Amino acid sequence: MSAVLPSAAGHRFAAPSPRIIGVEALAHLLSHAGFRVLWRDNQSDCKGVCAGLPSERLEGLDEHLLDGLDRIVEDTHGNRVLVLHQLGSHGPAYASRYPAAFARFQPACGSAELRECTPAEIVNAYDNSLLYTDHVIASAIRFVQAQQGAYDTALLYASDHGESLGEHNVYLHGLPRAIAPREQTQVPMVAWLSPGFARSAALDMNCMSARAQQPVSHDHLFHTVLGLLDVRTHVYDGAFDLSAGCRRHPEMPSVATPGRRHAAAAAA
Ligand SMILES: [Zn+2]
Repeated sequence: MSAVLPSAAGHRFAAPSPRIIGVEALAHLLSHAGFRVLWRDNQSDCKGVCAGLPSERLEGLDEHLLDGLDRIVEDTHGNRVLVLHQLGSHGPAYASRYPAAFARFQPACGSAELRECTPAEIVNAYDNSLLYTDHVIASAIRFVQAQQGAYDTALLYASDHGESLGEHNVYLHGLPRAIAPREQTQVPMVAWLSPGFARSAALDMNCMSARAQQPVSHDHLFHTVLGLLDVRTHVYDGAFDLSAGCRRHPEMPSVATPGRRHAAAAAA
């Protein structure tokens, strides 16, 4: 999943009403805080978390989530959040998640019937899908990097879950949290912030790099996005904002060059 946002620099955003916060997901909260949110989905659907927001459904390889984003950003006035909901490595049809050019690990399982493949073939197909996801995330970062002249950009990526590939004879994902093996619960998170974004958010990037070495969970995602985007709301909890301890002036409003817009991209 990924996102991009531009802003009236140096302004805090109005907090949504408590009633709205009580029932809304992050994308809705950002929308009510004044961000132009676009949800692009390459999965079956967004399960309600993008309901009522501008959204687009795609079907195919994840790289198409990036198609035409430059045009969308060009047309944006104010802050923009782009959410890119990837198919990633969703099984069991791992071989359908990447094009032939990424079929580096061989032999790879080409079937959605995992019992037809050896454990090594399943792992190879999964690894190929990871290689392709790396490429998609790198392309998304290159995209937000290319917008730096006009926007302060950032990208955040997180997987929603891991995957069992036969460890303890378990496959796929979705076991209840209480019994899920670590293969399903340990996931990657990646953040990329442009120098302009780090400057306007008064972030010490050495501090952020050091923070990246510490344990993080999905509980941090919501509050970190609010913190990075300077959204003031009573549901924000600085204890779960990965950037909170890395602001040079925690109580100061963010400072940015007048007339410059913020563009942040988050991916999950
Ligand atoms: Zn999933």
